[in-house]
Amino acid sequence: MNEETREKLRERLREKRRELLDEGDLKVEPNRPDPMGQADEDEQPLNEMNQVIASRRNRMRAQEIAGIEAALRRMEEDPEEYGRCVDCDEWIPVRRLELMPWAQRCVECQSALGEGPRDGRRRHALDFVDS
Ligand SMILES: [Zn+2]
Repeated sequence: MNEETREKLRERLREKRRELLDEGDLKVEPNRPDPMGQADEDEQPLNEMNQVIASRRNRMRAQEIAGIEAALRRMEEDPEEYGRCVDCDEWIPVRRLELMPWAQRCVECQSALGEGPRDGRRRHALDFVDS
């Protein structure tokens, strides 16, 4: 990967991090009992659901930011190695890095982990074994 491409991806990482930081944490309201005892009891489950959604979203966002910062660190510490798959040591295609510059794995290794976007194609012999 040349300097220019890396610089472009670095810029993208910073932008994305800025976006995520600007977004800020969703407010998680503490679930206080109503001192006057006049709260509508029907609202309680909804409040709890909103809290769960808000804290899950905040957690995901924190993970995204951590992933971006890790990528920026890798780029800083060992620029020549940035973009190499941590599992198979192959270079991750730039096209993939442009979409997700924080990626640490190529598509094959990522789908082998069972997460991330799948491209729908069958890649592994085991996929053809009837269960
Ligand atoms: Zn790989």
